[in-house]
Amino acid sequence: MTEAVESTDVVRDVVIVGSGPAGYTAAIYAARANLAPLVVAGSVTAGGELMNTTDVENFPGFPEGILGPELMGHLEKQATRFGAEVLYEDVVSVDLEAEPKVVTLGNGSEYRTHAVVLATGSAYRELGVEGEKRLSGHGVSWCATCDGFFFRDQNIAVVGGGDSAMEEALFLTKFASTVTVIHRRDELRASKTMADRALAHEKIDFIWDTEVTGLEGEDKLKTLQLRNLKTGAESTLDVTGLFVAIGSDPRVDLVRDQLELTDKGTIKVDYPSSRTSIPGVFAAGDVTDPTYRQAITAAGSGCVAAQDVEHYLADVKDLAAAAS
Ligand code: NAP
Repeated sequence: MTEAVESTDVVRDVVIVGSGPAGYTAAIYAARANLAPLVVAGSVTAGGELMNTTDVENFPGFPEGILGPELMGHLEKQATRFGAEVLYEDVVSVDLEAEPKVVTLGNGSEYRTHAVVLATGSAYRELGVEGEKRLSGHGVSWCATCDGFFFRDQNIAVVGGGDSAMEEALFLTKFASTVTVIHRRDELRASKTMADRALAHEKIDFIWDTEVTGLEGEDKLKTLQLRNLKTGAESTLDVTGLFVAIGSDPRVDLVRDQLELTDKGTIKVDYPSSRTSIPGVFAAGDVTDPTYRQAITAAGSGCVAAQDVEHYLADVKDLAAAAS
């Protein structure tokens, strides 16, 4: 970690915003290409979503699994080993149209750079009910692929009525004894194929028109408090796991007014490249991905972004040389 120092004349080759698997993988590749990347890692969100996960058992290369924070520590070390500089600060604004581009941090420092990689991730929506935060990682999860394995032969619930909720519920039937889907309306938002598969599955039950109003359990989740939204009737459901699948929001606040977004709210990239609507600005990871949202897919797209930066900078330097 380095202290933030206000830059004046120095123009960086690349600033990477975000420090999940996409940001750090971009940093590893950019550092190895001698681009001396600056990673603005975030003051409280450094390491991204994996910092909130316990065992990660599906990241290739770790046959015994690895703790999420440990994996992120490895990625950071790997990036700094090759010369990436990491600041635990937040970016508060960017000027992406300027040349060079300007990245301003919460401590007032301004960095000028030829290229920017946006790897700001997405934030899972939370229910916002009593006990949710406290029991996160102790029965409450946002990722069936990551945590489903820990609920073998248990009774668990999924909240949500979209494709994610159906996908989570169907995936969880591999492990759980029963999966109860709790949805706030009486019809699913999910695509017909996904909905039909879930509705037909013998291990999946549905509780309709119902919201979760609270979570109980001392060290581990034990009981959900429920309320029927049509009748107002209150009830409880005993489960050891709750998967919250009510959507997620890409973190695009910094760039909403500058970059083209997709109709899903993610940063639009010229797939399979990581190029955005502004030359020299690249995006990777969950902030571009409404579908897969896995650590390994984010890491892969970070690699793509770093290579796109390298090619972009080479072209810019060629043009400058030709003009002089
Ligand atoms: P989504 O489509 O926005 O669905 C979110 C679900 O959560 C909705 O059913 C919504 O209820 C419910 N919800 C939202 N806020 C809630 C709250 N505070 N309390 C209780 N319930 C709440 O999100 P998603 O399922 O994550 O899907 C996102 C996008 O990815 C979609 O375009 C989806 O098609 C796509 N996706 C595709 C696949 C696939 O094809 N295999 C898999 C996953 C995701 P309402 O229905 O009442 O609004």
